[in-house]
Amino acid sequence: MSSRPEEKHAWRVKGLELQVGADERELAALACAEVGLEPRELSGFRLVKKALDARRFQGVHRLRFVYHVELVLPAGFRSAAFERARRSGRVEKVERQVEPRVERVHASLAAKHVAVVGAGPAGLFAALVLARHGVRVTLVDRGSAVERRSRELVQFHRTRTPDPESNLLFGEGGAGTYSDGKLYTRVDDPLEHALLEELVAAGADPVILYDSRAHIGTDRLHRILPVLRARLAERGVRFDWNTRVDGLVLGAPGRVQALATSKGELPCEALVFAPGHSARDTWAAFHAQGVVFEAKPFQLGVRIEHPQELVTRAQFGTSAEAEALGAASYALVAREANGLRAAHSFCMCPGGRIVASVNEPGFLCTNGMSNSRHSSRWANAALVVTLGPDDFGRGPFDGVALQRELEARFFAAGGGDYTAPAQRADDFLRGKESGGELATSYRFGARPGRVDELLPPFLRDALRAALARFDRTIPGFAGKDGLLVGLESRSSGPVRMPRDRATRRASGFSNLYPAGEGAGWAGGITSAALDGAKSALALLEHGV
Ligand SMILES: Cc1cc2nc3c(=O)[nH]c(=O)nc-3n(C[C@H](O)[C@H](O)[C@H](O)COP(=O)(O)OP(=O)(O)OC[C@H]3O[C@@H](n4cnc5c(N)ncnc54)[C@H](O)[C@@H]3O)c2cc1C
Repeated sequence: MSSRPEEKHAWRVKGLELQVGADERELAALACAEVGLEPRELSGFRLVKKALDARRFQGVHRLRFVYHVELVLPAGFRSAAFERARRSGRVEKVERQVEPRVERVHASLAAKHVAVVGAGPAGLFAALVLARHGVRVTLVDRGSAVERRSRELVQFHRTRTPDPESNLLFGEGGAGTYSDGKLYTRVDDPLEHALLEELVAAGADPVILYDSRAHIGTDRLHRILPVLRARLAERGVRFDWNTRVDGLVLGAPGRVQALATSKGELPCEALVFAPGHSARDTWAAFHAQGVVFEAKPFQLGVRIEHPQELVTRAQFGTSAEAEALGAASYALVAREANGLRAAHSFCMCPGGRIVASVNEPGFLCTNGMSNSRHSSRWANAALVVTLGPDDFGRGPFDGVALQRELEARFFAAGGGDYTAPAQRADDFLRGKESGGELATSYRFGARPGRVDELLPPFLRDALRAALARFDRTIPGFAGKDGLLVGLESRSSGPVRMPRDRATRRASGFSNLYPAGEGAGWAGGITSAALDGAKSALALLEHGV
């Protein structure tokens, strides 16, 4: 079949290197040279990935950026040199980007109304995909729209009493609204680019489309969410803020006909259920009505904080190039050894702050956030171990019970006002309480506590081994400048709602579509957004 003259093909060239500070406009010429093209032969050029390589070479930091780029060429383009590059694998054809669309909306959805529960990434992107296909959507969230939610959080910091409905976990944007906004919990999914473009259309910096360490930052997320909301509203999505879903109104068995909410019944022909990893009350209510939940592995550990300078120096060195790179991050892994569990760092926030990631009074859990410029003098991350049902039990909510027990223990040890019990890393290793002032970015403050004794012994031992291991990569990591702050118990959700592989419907239901982290099918902003979008696509395809 001959190609139409205007048809274009995209080709990917991987692994181009530039020194830190070099002009990225050189990349097109560099890519052309790599694959035997002249720059004038290109119809287009696009950066698709940029990653920092900060590995040491003979003890010295050899800082450089590694790029993947796309070259656009007329479909009929031929040249011997390019053909050789193609055969050698130096350039490969790019399959077309996938859009979150279905060919035909299932007839059963005509003029139907779909409720989406949860305005986190999963719910927002499910609503977007449905609305784009002309489906009438109401997005229900127990929390507030982001402007009001921020004022409520200020109140929490003042009164030390969380609002159980609108807080750091609940409200517009979901759990990641006060986060680093990292977008690289990626799943290498062809839909991902289209979702990131949606964020760019709502005001995110286009570098998120290719930066391997892309993050948005809390300050920018707060400007993007209202724009995203307006774009959804333009497509007809209705928002019910401050409306808690308390249960289902069932018609025929396995068929939801309305939601029971704190503001009355909301009839719907289908439900996308994306309540996030902390909707413990909602899970219990749905379970009591016959929705199936099962326990799944989740992560448990502590937050650790260091001066950012200690991390940046270890990761980048002290050269002028390192200076230009700003705050460094890390991702550390300690494998299982000597009968001790594997542990790893997670959700690292360079230049960030520790936050109280809580929605219910009486429970303490920490997490991290940062602004777009990563400008604070602190670096924090979770240090976690993955636990499975063998550790806590096979009942669907046994993992939740363990989370609650430990969160209540840490809350009490902190004095019951969200002050966090904390221990310096070297004292944690030695099993001794820390003395003196415990400086931290955590707004509620830290007080000396035996974090080592508050944790289950197997977890403490795994974290001790991991700390000693990480100190070899980042000298000082396990020293007096490392501070273990509170408990990290909600890095991931402890339950899963089984769903049909093809239709994505919940077990035993014909019109209930669980999605995102609260349904146990995602972890992180990007993966939850993708999961929500895919559940919406499944609903559009399979109907109700
Ligand atoms: C402090 C913090 C920092 C984080 N940092 C990052 C990061 O940098 N990068 C990253 O990838 N991930 C990060 N995460 C994780 C990420 O936020 C979650 O993985 C993601 O938000 C999950 O999306 P979701 O849509 O499934 O659920 P959520 O975002 O949790 O949204 C669920 C929504 O459902 C609503 N809801 C719950 N119950 C009900 C009910 N009964 N009725 C009505 N509404 C209800 C809630 O109000 C909430 O808004 C962070 C999380 C926290 C807490």
